[in-house]
Amino acid sequence: MNKIRALKIGDVSVAAGERGFGSLGYVELADGTQVRIPLMIVRGLKRGPSLLLLSTIHGPEILGIEVIRRIIREEVNPKRLVGSILAIPVANPLAFQNASYVTPYFDYFDLNRSFPGDSQGTITVRMADMIWSAVSKSDYIIDIHGVPNAMGHGYTVVRLSGKDSVDKNAIDMARAYGLSIVISEQRRIEEKGRLPGLQALAMHNGIPCILVETSGWRVWSRTAADSGVRGVLNVMKTLGMIPGSVEKQEGFVCPKPLKTHMLFANKGGILHLMKSPGEQIAAGDTVARILNIYGDEVETIKSPKAGYVCAYPFMENQAVAAGEYVALIGEIIENYKI
Ligand SMILES: [Zn+2]
Repeated sequence: MNKIRALKIGDVSVAAGERGFGSLGYVELADGTQVRIPLMIVRGLKRGPSLLLLSTIHGPEILGIEVIRRIIREEVNPKRLVGSILAIPVANPLAFQNASYVTPYFDYFDLNRSFPGDSQGTITVRMADMIWSAVSKSDYIIDIHGVPNAMGHGYTVVRLSGKDSVDKNAIDMARAYGLSIVISEQRRIEEKGRLPGLQALAMHNGIPCILVETSGWRVWSRTAADSGVRGVLNVMKTLGMIPGSVEKQEGFVCPKPLKTHMLFANKGGILHLMKSPGEQIAAGDTVARILNIYGDEVETIKSPKAGYVCAYPFMENQAVAAGEYVALIGEIIENYKI
């Protein structure tokens, strides 16, 4: 019989039909504390795709930890799984510890913009290097993030690479996941001098990847976790890793793919939201007003396009300074072909 060998990544070695827990590696702090990047593996008895589940690349985006726990420990039976699941529930443990978006000390880098990483780089770049070793062993990736005040249970982002088969596979994953789909054209991997982000880099390396912006920031809800588990299982069903048919997501799902527009504050003050996440809007509709602390309206923020309010993603505080991110608008892409 064509026996499946044990899979070894980091310090985790897993036989076929088993689960394994450990870490990809560690970075060391000044007092010698070793900060480990956790790794969970489920190895099926039959050969098949290798799916990587990632969560908490950004510290406050914690819902994916619960989604991964349920997938790995409750939903998937290793004896029945086809292929394998690699899961990194907390990709940036330093940011997680501090509930901060970026690594909160040393280099202050955004892990998502530190790939493919370097084993000789600064601390975040070293973590990226370890995570990239798991990325490069994967056939498909679901990268779970979080955003406050999103439409429905969130939305899925696909960053097109221009490689048709990779793009088509990623769109198929997003359709199976079942939330609203945001298409981002990132055919060039360099982006205004910044590194491209894990998702675009994976796509350019031929690995279909979806980014899920679940609704939640520093908090999570059971209904959002239910949606995340349903989405991951739906993708696994379409990849042939588990049996069953795709289940429809609950809550608002936009009927067509969206192209997004980010709206920012130019004035400082208190943000008044004039629409709701998921609400349909016309071009020119007022999406938010900013009132200064004396009560004068200092800015009216209007949508440049017709479509939907995808999110009001102010991250920490509904008081905004100039340049802060106020709203994400989704313009419907008509006649989308892929
Ligand atoms: Zn994120």
